[in-house]
Amino acid sequence: MRTTGYAAYSPTSPLALFQFERRSLRANDVAMEILYSGVCHSDLHTARNDWGWSYYPIVTGHEIVGRVTAVGVQVEKYKVGDHVAVGCMVDSCMSCDQCRKGEEQLCRAGNTGTYASQDRVTGENTHGGYSKHLVVREDFCLRVPEGLDLARTAPLLCAGITTYSPLRTWNVGPGSRVGVVGLGGLGHMAVKLAVGLGADVTVLSRSADKTADALELGADRLLISSDSEAMAQAANGFDLIIDTVPVKHDLNPYLPLLDVDGTLVIVGQIGPMEETNTVPLLLGRRRIAGSPIGGIRETQEMLDFCAKKNILPDCEMIRMDQINEAFERMEKADVRYRFVIDMASLPAEAA
Ligand code: NAP
Ligand code: ZN
Repeated sequence: MRTTGYAAYSPTSPLALFQFERRSLRANDVAMEILYSGVCHSDLHTARNDWGWSYYPIVTGHEIVGRVTAVGVQVEKYKVGDHVAVGCMVDSCMSCDQCRKGEEQLCRAGNTGTYASQDRVTGENTHGGYSKHLVVREDFCLRVPEGLDLARTAPLLCAGITTYSPLRTWNVGPGSRVGVVGLGGLGHMAVKLAVGLGADVTVLSRSADKTADALELGADRLLISSDSEAMAQAANGFDLIIDTVPVKHDLNPYLPLLDVDGTLVIVGQIGPMEETNTVPLLLGRRRIAGSPIGGIRETQEMLDFCAKKNILPDCEMIRMDQINEAFERMEKADVRYRFVIDMASLPAEAA
């Protein structure tokens, strides 16, 4: 199927129109028209080749909501017209221990990314949601629960699951004390989801600018990470800290904030850490951990949880041709709190 998208053509050029082929339907595939696509900081990292594994042209976007337009002969769960969603993965081996547990993101053979990856059958480069159509294996589609606003559902597929998964892994519930470092796309979802699970939530931000927002999002307080006195007073006060900062940064100020057996889980920066002092780790039996997205079963659980609790991201809608401006604003942390592209703004054919 011929389709259009917006692609990065090099690490330095702006995203621009791109025409390409989506594969023909396999027996277990779903084809969809993409309605909305969220803009994740990973899209920006990938467009700029920050992680070194990009190819060009590349169509990013892994927070996708669409309408089913065709299904393969073996597809059982979806029919034409259904609203479906796709996140950061489009395939995995489905047979290793992790896949069998529903943790496809941890597939021993590596999951197939929605973009920056290779199709398991043909070896072709994958392309993501900044496009008009998508063809994806049925098992990697999610059902959008009735009643959820479709545009605002899109960011749940990455920002939502990436923060929900560690909250569930570390058993956050009523009485848990959760810190969130960086109030951006992931950070604001971490706040809403942790509040939804009944936790006491503190935002750790670089300045007081977002205090009113943090409280409105449901957080109990905002702590300025550069205020050493306030940070000292907060020592030993957290069971879990979710760190969403997208760049290399100093973890040392956050470790003493953890209580005994507390965990700082990194979901943001990918790459070498700044030199970190092990003293607070050893003396307080504290941990530093990482966490990638979440499995398909858990993603559906998160969507259903959000529908039940009416938890949705705060979004700013943009047209496809505003993506370069959106990337620039995201780099300056000037987004409250997720851009979502209305894909109706992208022509089905290049002029
Ligand atoms: P975002 O919307 O740009 O938010 C990042 C936030 O981090 C900002 O709002 C800002 O919050 C803080 N920040 C930004 N620059 C900073 C700096 N130089 N120093 C300290 N703090 C800074 O980004 P996002 O979409 O939430 O993504 C965050 C990171 O998560 C990205 O690196 C992305 O690639 C990664 N990610 C990982 C996964 C995964 O599976 N683990 C999934 C999705 C995304 P304050 O202004 O409040 O300080
Ligand atoms: Zn993402």
